Amino acid sequence: MTVTRTEQALLEHYVKKILAAPVYELAVRTPLQAAPALSEALGNRILLKREDLQPTFSFKIRGAYNKLVQLTPEQRARGVITASAGNHAQGVALAARELGISASIVMPVTTPQLKVLGVRNRGAEAILHGESFPFALAHALDLAEQTGREFVSPFDDPDVIAGQGTVAMEILRQHPGQLDAIFVPVGGGGLIAGIAAYVKYLRPEVRIIGVESQHSACLQAALAAGERVTLPEVGTFADGVAVAQIGAHGLDICRFCVDEVMTVSNDQLCAAIKDIYDDTRSITEPSGALAVAGIKQYVAHTGARGQTLVAIDSGANINFDSLRHVAERAAVGAI
Ligand SMILES: *Cc1c(COP(=O)(O)O)cnc(C)c1O
Repeated sequence: MTVTRTEQALLEHYVKKILAAPVYELAVRTPLQAAPALSEALGNRILLKREDLQPTFSFKIRGAYNKLVQLTPEQRARGVITASAGNHAQGVALAARELGISASIVMPVTTPQLKVLGVRNRGAEAILHGESFPFALAHALDLAEQTGREFVSPFDDPDVIAGQGTVAMEILRQHPGQLDAIFVPVGGGGLIAGIAAYVKYLRPEVRIIGVESQHSACLQAALAAGERVTLPEVGTFADGVAVAQIGAHGLDICRFCVDEVMTVSNDQLCAAIKDIYDDTRSITEPSGALAVAGIKQYVAHTGARGQTLVAIDSGANINFDSLRHVAERAAVGAI
């Protein structure tokens, strides 16, 4: 990777923000855990970064807290607003409660009651509006304008990206030895941007590989087109990454820091949920299993052996009722 001076300066800017992000007032340092069965099966050393163990059960708390903690006293007093049906909503709700900031979260009317309660139980206001995410988002932006509340993007914000980047800071400290690649699930690109900026600044030889759902591959589409594109349709099985357009700030980094982007099917995700369960006895949500599904596909395609590969296990917010479907499809998706 050859990096221009402007690009290097952008990375340095993010590394400084990541090192200064006070996320541990709320987030925890999660384990980087060996996956022995998967390692044996794939002939490579597989390590799982257990972000499913965060409070709210996903890494989103890192970015949400880092954004909210940096608001001015005036912005804090006016409160925050966001749109989300899932993990970002819970992250913002918890961070806002911790900091004594009033939070409104616009959720599509189709949002499962469980997640609406998850937001309300953390003291935030849940506003049900719109049939799907883009309508909820438009409403949240309108309300931000009308009420003066600060809009908190789930991914397209440098403070959010820096918060997510603390995942990479932990990985490099937890694993100073040989590290060949980090596989990162991609939705709107906040997580991969933060991780890629940190890793490419400090250990540029480590490959950063993005993994998208076949039904929401907006980073791959943007890299192919050379600009952000809006996907006409998005599948929601992996609801944590069901995003139609990659974030602008994220793409600025991914353009030169991501070595490869791959896509996987829903059945591959179900099989990966089982693999993670077999090694850890923990259940992952579909988006949370993207990176493991990506590693399996990577090893099958490249024949890689003896490498050390890290997968970000990004979240565990799955409805219990969905597990029947996951268990049924896992056998189909096994490769
Ligand atoms: C949000 C999320 C992602 C993707 O993160 P982006 O910053 O949107 O790319 C992946 N997995 C889970 C569980 C998430 O909640």
